[in-house]
Amino acid sequence: MLRRTDFGDYDLILTFLSLSRGKISVIAKSAKKSTKRFSGVLELFSALEIVCREPRSKGLPVLEEATLRQPFAGIRADIYKTAYASYWAELVQGWIEENEKQVGLYRLLEYVLRQLDGGNVPEAALSVLFQMRFMRLCGLSPNLINCSNCKAEISRAHKNNLAVDLARGGILCEHCAKGALHRMVLSKGTIKQLIWAESGNIATAGRIRFTPQALKEGQLFLEEFVPFHLGKKPRSLSFLKQLRG
Ligand SMILES: [Zn+2]
Repeated sequence: MLRRTDFGDYDLILTFLSLSRGKISVIAKSAKKSTKRFSGVLELFSALEIVCREPRSKGLPVLEEATLRQPFAGIRADIYKTAYASYWAELVQGWIEENEKQVGLYRLLEYVLRQLDGGNVPEAALSVLFQMRFMRLCGLSPNLINCSNCKAEISRAHKNNLAVDLARGGILCEHCAKGALHRMVLSKGTIKQLIWAESGNIATAGRIRFTPQALKEGQLFLEEFVPFHLGKKPRSLSFLKQLRG
């Protein structure tokens, strides 16, 4: 469940990322008034199996049954974890079309929520992993292979810290970066780890041990890059940044 909003005095509107139909919004009648109606399982970020009835005329599908598959209660019990999950959910909620099957995205979100709930992988590492792979699924990956200006291979650069050019969607080589003021840099080590985070299967990528520097630089970079290229600043990202201080 990505989002849960009140609708009138009794009902809830719920948005899910579903395995079979992509993003869908449904109405849960009387769910707000009576916790018995859905036995209290309609919690944010949980994985549910749901049965809906198509509306008679216009309107949203009506939730008939909901069975809890993964509560992911560890996320809701921790404000940092909740902030990260809210950010990822807002990205999915805000930038994915309704009713378009998105199996890769479903698997990605399920993976990061499961790891976040389990607490074995640092939140920042999961967030780097999620953002890199989410942007790839959106067709908006940062270009970390070639200079955004002259197309020279970044791995051949002699300097260790390379300037980021957000508007051009990637990195500048040392020659192209000369003279201009760049407020963000990525080290070659970080660039390499970001490329790993995006490639191969999710379980392998999930085992990357990011260096503290790569986590710090990668997180700073992605939290600028993602809103810039999606064209809107997620509200939950401001909250997450505030919380981290
Ligand atoms: Zn260049």
